[in-house]
Amino acid sequence: MKMFIAGKWIDKPEKIEIKNPYDGSVIDTVPKADASDVEQALAGAVEGARLMREMPAYDRYRILRKASDLLRARQQELGRLLSQEEGKILKEGVGEVARAAETLELSGEEAKRLYSEVLPLDAASNGGSRFGFTLRVPCGVVVAITPFNFPINLPCHKVGPALAAGNSVILKPASDTPLIALRLVEILLEAGTPPEAISCITGSGGSLGDALCADHRVRKISFTGSREIGERITKVAGIKRVTLELGSNSPLIIMDDADLEKAAEAAVATGYANAGQVCISAQRVIAAQPVYQDLLDVLKPKVAALTAGDQLQESTHMGPMIREADAERVESWIGEAVQGGAKLLTGGGRRGTLHEPTLLADVHPDMKVSRQELFGPAIAVTEASSIDEAIRLANDTRYGLSAGIFTSSLERALQFARQVDSGNLHINWGPQWRADLIPYGGLKDSGLGKEGPKYAVEEMTEVKTVIVHL
Ligand code: NAP
Repeated sequence: MKMFIAGKWIDKPEKIEIKNPYDGSVIDTVPKADASDVEQALAGAVEGARLMREMPAYDRYRILRKASDLLRARQQELGRLLSQEEGKILKEGVGEVARAAETLELSGEEAKRLYSEVLPLDAASNGGSRFGFTLRVPCGVVVAITPFNFPINLPCHKVGPALAAGNSVILKPASDTPLIALRLVEILLEAGTPPEAISCITGSGGSLGDALCADHRVRKISFTGSREIGERITKVAGIKRVTLELGSNSPLIIMDDADLEKAAEAAVATGYANAGQVCISAQRVIAAQPVYQDLLDVLKPKVAALTAGDQLQESTHMGPMIREADAERVESWIGEAVQGGAKLLTGGGRRGTLHEPTLLADVHPDMKVSRQELFGPAIAVTEASSIDEAIRLANDTRYGLSAGIFTSSLERALQFARQVDSGNLHINWGPQWRADLIPYGGLKDSGLGKEGPKYAVEEMTEVKTVIVHL
């Protein structure tokens, strides 16, 4: 495919091959952009921002609504392409396209809700008879940088609110999964988005990122990806708005009053989807001592029953990881944990990008499989003697994106909600759950700001204060 910059589909002599991570077959190529393409995208986006600012909110709503309908109509075809390039199973790929359609629909609705307020100036000692109000305006050019693991819904979480708020947007998708993002751009154009208002630049983030993020014409960066790149962006961005949706090593606490069958079911559902490559995957299971062994007994056969294989086959439960190097890293962290005394209950094997669904018990919190973001198909189980110790272990991390607890005690559930430092908290489910309208974002090193169209629109607009001196 070509990339879309400043109103034109553009090719380049240098290409990036997009491969199916299961078998390495080449699906397509995309151009490898360079600095001159970044400049073109920025200049085009300035013009795009001017056009979008003048477009009535109702028209912005209609464009996003139509794009959402088009996504729904092409859900099966796009879901297959998504699974092919990302490696998630077909059901998850098709499901992600449905979510992306909902995200654009929600974004379109937000275009109608850009309220301002009248200021009660008579309540100020120096207000007199002046009249004051606010105006909520678009911030201008938005740069949206997205990771490989949700290659259509996460772009929609940035592009949708940006356009709804009346901005232009430059999308830089992950180099492993740009095809579905380019298809999204085709759909947005078909739905009536002014061509200058959306660019999609393909190429290495390492070589394009600084130029995109440092430029003064960009007023807002919305980044989803790793903590390391997020931190770099905060250093190069300068004075502009930045939203960061970063990684995690999410905990799931299972107390002794929990329904163990349901808890194990939730751990599996939230720990191995997309081969564990979800920012809110259940990574650390912290189980109360009285039910520790019983939980392992219920959990182990459920994990062992998961089949890993070709993501496009209906019978496969879990597809490959995105790159072989990531599967090797997961394998080596598991090996280190086992050498350090953790028990391998099932899995542990690897063939190329396919890593088996793995369950580790007796994991020490300092082992890499627990301490760092694993981003792979393994759950590390650790014992806790009380709710207080479980909460201490849950908080013993630099991250704070999502956490879960299973308990039948309202008191414990509320203690968890109050004391666990995490942006999302799930009671009687695992950490991996999201509806696209909720405020979503991390605490601590998991990020800054919130997504969810209502909240993203707030972060992609500026408030001006107007005072009429009568
Ligand atoms: P990544 O390596 O950080 O890449 C994310 C994006 O940043 C890609 O488009 C990448 O481009 C680009 N990039 C690379 N270097 C850059 C630079 N110097 N400046 C600007 N952009 C740059 O992350 P990933 O491996 O794709 O995704 C996995 C990570 O994303 C995990 O840590 C996961 O937890 C996190 N994540 C978080 C959320 C959330 O909502 N909190 C959701 C999903 C994923 P290239 O691909 O060309 O390198």
